[in-house]
Amino acid sequence: MEGSLDADVVVVGGGYTGMWTAWHLLDSEPGIRVLLLEGGICGHGPSGRNGGFCESLWFSAPALRERFGDAPARALLDASSETVTAIGAWCRDNDVDAWFDQSGYMCVSTGPAFDDTGLAAVEAAAALGAPEAVRDLSAAEVRERVDSPVFRRGVLVPDFATVQPARLALGLRRRLLERGVQVFERSRVRALRTEPGGRSVVAETAAGRVRAGAAVLAMGPAARSLRPLRSRLSVTSSHIVLTEPVADVLEEIGWTGGECITDGRALLHYFRTTRDGRIVFGWGGGPLAYGGRVHGRVEVDRDTAAEARRHLLRIFPELEGRATTHAWGGPIDVSPSHVAQVGTLPGAPVHFAFGFTGNGVGPTHLAARALASLALDRRDAYTRLPIVGADAGAWVPPEPLAWLGGSLVRRAFLRREEALERGERPGLATRALCALPKALGMHVAR
Ligand SMILES: Cc1cc2nc3c(=O)[nH]c(=O)nc-3n(C[C@H](O)[C@H](O)[C@H](O)COP(=O)(O)OP(=O)(O)OC[C@H]3O[C@@H](n4cnc5c(N)ncnc54)[C@H](O)[C@@H]3O)c2cc1C
Repeated sequence: MEGSLDADVVVVGGGYTGMWTAWHLLDSEPGIRVLLLEGGICGHGPSGRNGGFCESLWFSAPALRERFGDAPARALLDASSETVTAIGAWCRDNDVDAWFDQSGYMCVSTGPAFDDTGLAAVEAAAALGAPEAVRDLSAAEVRERVDSPVFRRGVLVPDFATVQPARLALGLRRRLLERGVQVFERSRVRALRTEPGGRSVVAETAAGRVRAGAAVLAMGPAARSLRPLRSRLSVTSSHIVLTEPVADVLEEIGWTGGECITDGRALLHYFRTTRDGRIVFGWGGGPLAYGGRVHGRVEVDRDTAAEARRHLLRIFPELEGRATTHAWGGPIDVSPSHVAQVGTLPGAPVHFAFGFTGNGVGPTHLAARALASLALDRRDAYTRLPIVGADAGAWVPPEPLAWLGGSLVRRAFLRREEALERGERPGLATRALCALPKALGMHVAR
């Protein structure tokens, strides 16, 4: 981006949040001038490289009830379900083949210590009058869907879908360009100023400036580098390995229904199949990104990829001898409450959303609806959702404290969960470190 340009709304960040905001702005106000500035290529960050679980928030129902109360939580949960359906409909209507497949999600226990996994979500859904939203599954029912020697009981959330994340991001980018959104890539915003009077903002890149009536910050984990938001999120990482096509193994273990799956760990394993018969296997226990420096990428190192593969083989030993052909990683923007944050900077027409905590594929579409309304200065059902204007839940310390503390706690959780899976009791120091986040008001698991 070079020179001086004017827009009605400038969007900073070309991940799902930024691009869906641009889309919803055009739907709400045809003819609006939307200009999007992306530091790299749209979708090169987490939005194009995630596991593709397109989630409603029903598995988080217990935490949402506790944080917001029953009626606001139910409104948010229903909106999150509608969002998954809306993404599927968008792909169909806009001829974007993002491999959208709404076949549900299973959270499965992989050891006696995890056998209460998901039960709180079953109870919360029933208490909110939606027992069908989260269903209890016996070990036999789990294994009928997917057979693994380590699987025990679990729960099913039927409204989850999967997508091919890069296809969705790039398809969205293409359709935005066709609708006239000005998209500038390799155009990192270096400064954002509010003009005197607070009615407009100027976003500056290395070679240009955009003056707009409102700005939307959709920077994902890089929100951690903004002074007013810094203490509201931390940054962790997630890593993925992808197998070669293994349709024969999927057939053998009966995993032909398209369900996406996680175990019940806090640093969870998440896995799904793809349309070309591979398994995507992700892991939240890899090395921690150094928060202040993350602008979209965390590369995977050999040790992390090998470790993830080891975990994959423990769950599906039938894959022994079969190749993992790709591995990659990315940063995760974590809210202390595990609930995404949408809001407005004080005294400025600058709106933000971040903190999707590794679960943004569906929820970014919903947050973007609220962002579009805020940028248009409208109040509606989306701006009334309880995630809009909520506090962060807890204070996140600056670097290097957050990184040091986070790395220690993360290692403790890994030790704890490995021990529990072996049926052993974790040591005292490990238990104490694992209790620390809760004592500081932070949620570590959904
Ligand atoms: C390995 C991995 C697996 C995941 N798996 C899942 C999953 O299965 N399901 C799920 O729901 N979620 C998953 N997630 C999380 C999900 O990808 C994110 O929640 C979601 O993509 C967030 O979208 P976003 O647009 O808010 O942020 P991002 O995708 O991070 O996009 C932000 C964009 O802003 C740009 N940017 C930053 N700073 C600037 C600046 N100063 N100027 C201009 N541009 C800037 C960045 O380059 C980036 O492109 C995963 C994430 C990772 C890394």
